[in-house]
Amino acid sequence: VSSVELTRQFLDRIRCEDGKYNSFITVTEDQALADARAADEQRANGNATPWTGVPFAHKDIFCTRGVRTTCGSKMLENFVPPYDATVTANFRKAGAVCLGKTNMDEFAMGSSNESSYFGPVTNPWGAKRVPGGSSGGSAAAVAARLVPAATATDTGGSIRQPAALCGVTGLKPTYGRVSRYGMIAFASSLDQGGTMARTAEDNALMLNVMAGFDPKDSTCVDRGVPDYTATLDEPLKGLKIGLPKEYFSEQLSPAMEQQVRDAVKEYEKLGATVKEVSLPHANLAIAAYYVIAPAEASANLSRFDGVRYGYRCEDPKDLMDLYTRTRAEGFGNEVERRILVGTYALSAGYFDAYYLKAQKVRRLIQQDFINAFREVDVLMSPTSPSPAFVQGEKSTDPVTMYLEDVFTIAVNLAGVPAMSVPAGFIDGLPVGLQIIGDYFSEARLLNAAHQFQ
Ligand code: GLN
Repeated sequence: VSSVELTRQFLDRIRCEDGKYNSFITVTEDQALADARAADEQRANGNATPWTGVPFAHKDIFCTRGVRTTCGSKMLENFVPPYDATVTANFRKAGAVCLGKTNMDEFAMGSSNESSYFGPVTNPWGAKRVPGGSSGGSAAAVAARLVPAATATDTGGSIRQPAALCGVTGLKPTYGRVSRYGMIAFASSLDQGGTMARTAEDNALMLNVMAGFDPKDSTCVDRGVPDYTATLDEPLKGLKIGLPKEYFSEQLSPAMEQQVRDAVKEYEKLGATVKEVSLPHANLAIAAYYVIAPAEASANLSRFDGVRYGYRCEDPKDLMDLYTRTRAEGFGNEVERRILVGTYALSAGYFDAYYLKAQKVRRLIQQDFINAFREVDVLMSPTSPSPAFVQGEKSTDPVTMYLEDVFTIAVNLAGVPAMSVPAGFIDGLPVGLQIIGDYFSEARLLNAAHQFQ
């Protein structure tokens, strides 16, 4: 098929189906068709990449030149970036066809996509079920076959948890593997762009385009990028799997535990060995994250002041009124909650007690992973504590919502890569297997995920 035909096909699906899911904030139909025509010409001229003419979507956190980029917020409702994120530019260079921007929790803060200013996203697997978050739009769009692939970001679980709840495959790379330039910042030391698609192979194709050094991001690591598809078929014989005992505590539901143990058995059949390992500080991860992430967010979000760009309140009396009303009107509840918590944790009297302490805990959590990877190649666990929950069920109780990331958050604090792979169903709803790897072991994770599919 030609790219134009393929692009039309997916645009039709979005038009007919997305009313049910609300997985897109913006659909760029005309631009997509123009790009598809250009891609078809490029293919005819014989200089195509594997991505030339392939449709996909960007999470609405990646800046796209000339296309509005909202980050799920009223604050950026009409923001049209004058530049591309590096990830955006990389897909453009590869000739991929962007169909639009996917819905997300406001500023990527959330686990259910209910904090989006553009309305909640519905999980294609169940009426009234959340798709997870914050990359819920990307996950739902891939699950509903509205796009074959979508970019996503993960600060505490936002790629893996929605991938799990929507039955798709997602990868959060090592911190520094993918450039954050032009990716709207939430918590800069934790944020990482990554991939979402149906299969590990498609994730590998995405990472081939996304990974690599970028002088515009000082935390991006200058290190060679392998062809992530080259090692997908390597045999898993001898792979050492660790099961962190802290993740298999009495809090884990028996049904979820069974799914994970069944998956691990499949790996044993493929020649892997399994042993129990320990991440002794795992139970501190959520507490440390909810100091560090809000602290960084409070600093990052100070740029939305009504002066430089984004939303501005009507008729401000003076400068103070401009700042306060712009921010009160432009940010939603969850974002305000994080700014308040972060500002408090960083304030002079409390910095040592909260922020500094959390940083020390973070270091211990990182060391846990370093120690575990001296013993095993990968760690496996559930991705989320339960399958997709009903919309509204957790949205009034932030602490219950924060517990959604109990298995995913430590990974971000340590900076290691991790995937979520579909691993069966509970009551007709998909669940995910989380596979965690050592720094820069994305190829191995993709290989392990591919062999399981
Ligand atoms: N659910 C977590 C939060 O609300 C993680 C979000 C994310 O990874 N962007 O902060």
